[in-house]
Amino acid sequence: MSGLPEVIADLRERARYYASLTDLGLPPRAAPEEAASAPAADSDAAASLRAIREEVGDCQRCKLAPGRHSIVFGQGNPNARLMFVGEAPGSEEDAQGLAFVGRAGQLLTDIIEKGLKIPRRDVFIANILMCRPPDNRNPEPDEIIACQPFLEQKIQAIRPVVIVGLGKFAGQWLLKTAEPISRLRGRVGEYDGIKVVPTYHPAYLLPNPGAKKEVWEDMKVVRRLLAG
Ligand code: URA
Repeated sequence: MSGLPEVIADLRERARYYASLTDLGLPPRAAPEEAASAPAADSDAAASLRAIREEVGDCQRCKLAPGRHSIVFGQGNPNARLMFVGEAPGSEEDAQGLAFVGRAGQLLTDIIEKGLKIPRRDVFIANILMCRPPDNRNPEPDEIIACQPFLEQKIQAIRPVVIVGLGKFAGQWLLKTAEPISRLRGRVGEYDGIKVVPTYHPAYLLPNPGAKKEVWEDMKVVRRLLAG
């Protein structure tokens, strides 16, 4: 460690890491009387996610590690019935350590809260990659391979009823296919027995608002599956 900026960057990363080992991104713990009657599965999923986060540690498993500020683990309700999987953190997510908090994130919030009428805190949001690729380039295969055991574990911890795959990388990864997102969306797939609804990425909707119509159709499918 050489100069002051490096020391500060290192301390910042450590602070984020330790914060993430506590309750970052998880709903507040239940009050004692609620906790007494809460189903055991609640604490299991939250505990599993904490254990996965600990295993991620100060991850150096791929070439994105040196360029990141934060590991964006994903956040939300560990007992969510609905999970969203995006592509990778952007600059705002990298700065804050939280998934989908930039412009695309605002649009995702609208899709969840105005479209699906579900509070955003009730869903879980994660990404294919936990670290930001330089200049927001596409995830590369070695990076996806390094990160995927953790996404697999998160999905198993949460076991949602429905996963929405946002954009090509999430849709293809969840459905183990190389088909373009334009062909994937409009069909319900499955990931290990969990329903998968692929749709356009919110970042694509920003310059292509006409595609919101299709996303809305996809969200109606999500609502039906959740009700089902
Ligand atoms: N785009 C993504 O795919 N994920 C984020 O967290 C933010 C933008």
